[in-house]
Amino acid sequence: MVDLTTKDERHQARQQRLKQQVDDKINAAQQERGLVLVITGNGKGKSTSGFGMIARAVGHGQQCGVGQFIKGTWDCGERNLLQQHGVIFSVMATGFTWETQNKAADTLAAQATWADCKAMLADNTLDVVLLDELTYMVTYDYIDLDEIINAIDARPSQQTVIITGRAAHRRLIDIADTVSEVRNVKHAFEQGIKARKGIDW
Ligand code: ATP
Ligand code: MG
Repeated sequence: MVDLTTKDERHQARQQRLKQQVDDKINAAQQERGLVLVITGNGKGKSTSGFGMIARAVGHGQQCGVGQFIKGTWDCGERNLLQQHGVIFSVMATGFTWETQNKAADTLAAQATWADCKAMLADNTLDVVLLDELTYMVTYDYIDLDEIINAIDARPSQQTVIITGRAAHRRLIDIADTVSEVRNVKHAFEQGIKARKGIDW
């Protein structure tokens, strides 16, 4: 047994144990396959996170697709940038907004974008597929949850799927490998500050 007398030696021993634990975990992680990630919660940062991963993948030369399931602001900085880098987009340009009135029209719009997303989920040339704001389509019953889960289950094994949106359905959380919940601590909008280009869209 080594006599650890100085703070430095104790620190070094602690770091060695930590390194060993981390190395063991890294060595234990042997699976290589595409993931399902869910980014949910009421705080700001869900779509930003999803697009951040798409940017990462594109930066490594990977092929990506994005389905956008909400008509917020039509303009979208990430789409403007990523389309120039070969990312394919399907956007629900009409239909669902917070003031949605017409369920039939919204359902049609959601289904059209979902058809494109199903094609992405079946495309083995795509490394990463982002389904932005998909959770609301489940909540509002615009897209059948079984159909979503089946399409995700049947995707190419190396393809990663990212789902964003508030109040993710329990079953989406169950099929996911990684789930993060972004908690709202405070948001500028609550203090009367307008949404800003480059920050909010
Ligand atoms: P972002 O796209 O900025 O990552 P998000 O995807 O987490 O946000 P959404 O629920 O999709 O959040 O809402 C999109 C818009 O609403 C963005 O303009 C965002 O800034 C704003 N927003 C997000 N969270 C809140 C909140 N807690 N209160 C008010 N506005 C919010
Ligand atoms: Mg969002």
